[in-house]
Amino acid sequence: MVKFKGKFYITTAIDYPNSAPHLGQAYEKICADAIARWHRLQGEEVFFLTGTDEHGLKIQRAAEAAKQSPKEFVDTQALHFRELCEKLNISNDRFIRTTDSEHIKVSQEIFRKVFDSGDIYKGFYEGLYCASCENYITEKELVNGKCPYHNKAPELLREESYFFRLGKYQNQIIKHIKENPEFIQPEGKRTEILNRLKEPLKDLSVSRSSFRWGIPLPNDHKHVVYVWFDALLNYISGIDYPKEKFKKFWPCDLHNIGKDILWFHGVIWPAILLSAGIGLPKRIFVHGFINLASGEKMSKSLGNAVDPIALAGTYGADALRYFLLREIPFGQDGIFSEDLLKKRYNTELANELGNLLQRTLVLIEKNCSSKIPEGKTDAELAKRLNLEKIKSNMEKLELHFALAEIFSFIAHCNAYVNEKQPWKLQGEALNNVLYSLADSLRIIAILLAPFIPNTSEKISSQLGVRLGNIDECKFNLLKSGAKTNKAEILFRKI
Ligand SMILES: [Zn+2]
Repeated sequence: MVKFKGKFYITTAIDYPNSAPHLGQAYEKICADAIARWHRLQGEEVFFLTGTDEHGLKIQRAAEAAKQSPKEFVDTQALHFRELCEKLNISNDRFIRTTDSEHIKVSQEIFRKVFDSGDIYKGFYEGLYCASCENYITEKELVNGKCPYHNKAPELLREESYFFRLGKYQNQIIKHIKENPEFIQPEGKRTEILNRLKEPLKDLSVSRSSFRWGIPLPNDHKHVVYVWFDALLNYISGIDYPKEKFKKFWPCDLHNIGKDILWFHGVIWPAILLSAGIGLPKRIFVHGFINLASGEKMSKSLGNAVDPIALAGTYGADALRYFLLREIPFGQDGIFSEDLLKKRYNTELANELGNLLQRTLVLIEKNCSSKIPEGKTDAELAKRLNLEKIKSNMEKLELHFALAEIFSFIAHCNAYVNEKQPWKLQGEALNNVLYSLADSLRIIAILLAPFIPNTSEKISSQLGVRLGNIDECKFNLLKSGAKTNKAEILFRKI
């Protein structure tokens, strides 16, 4: 085992389960999962949280439409999101639901803390409200009179409400963002938030009295906690605030979120934490959106969403994970199409990776009676693996570059086979080539484990070795004489 190297706490946004999971939600979990698994590979103690955000008007309405109580409705819906995690092989340590009783308790406790610090007062709120955003929207944000994210016109709403003194924390938040360049990334998003913070912050309405489906305010049961105030608190209730796990894992190392909710995470969340006397998370990373090849945005509201569970069923979880992680530069928008997926599947997964394993194992079976031969890994080939670059890519969250670098090494291994032509060799020369290939594949399996974990397990088991950790990404550690297993096709061509 590698020695303990500290803790790593990572979260995704929690999903609003008013309809079936979509590809964007799958993508966010896959990225977070690859990062979580990478940190486990480094020997860190990781806590990875995901879950569902189950309160609010939109849920109440969706439940009414389904002729169910809100609780019955979310109980069923949450199952689909758990299924999504299972089908995609997401290694979350907990699946939190904001209807969990401990979460409700923590939300009320934090509301009380913020209230007690004098940051909450009662007033009236009137504004344009987008029910899909669960939020008021300003005139300025509208595009042709409609919410730019949901393409729907907002409604005018007026209600009695409690307000949070968001403005009180404006300067502190600006200072924090400026002094901590890592706090909001990528850089463009950080600049965007700093620009928006040039305008004075208005106080935030943090309660609703116009509907019932929410957490009752501890001081006024006519009101429920505003769904965003409640939702953000999952990041601390999910690690048992204020108990042992919270003490160990907070502050969060990485909140992985979409760009439509950056304002809540970059401004409102820090303000709540400051008011409650809790430290701020270390890093908020904003990933891009997935668009269709036609250039259209993919969204539930537009009805053109792709079903990630069905895709994983057709191509396998690893193929979908690989495609999304490799195709879309983490932090930028990207394009999804099944044609692009099939292309990468056939060329990179089936031809490059699959064939390398297949031909190596068949040669070992034929020439060495399915035993790893005595040998030494070719020093020139070994030099082609740039482990430091992969590590640095992962630290900078350049997941796509890390994968590209691993696949560049796979390409070198294939070129090495073609150059050495092992089928024409014998004796020590042949043994060294086969040992080099098997040893390289052993390392490739370790490095791919965060991205395509099932495939990594398969490669290791066919090679007859245990899947190692990052300290075992060194050449010549493969034991000679170990029995290899029968070559099985990793990715059948489509
Ligand atoms: Zn909206």
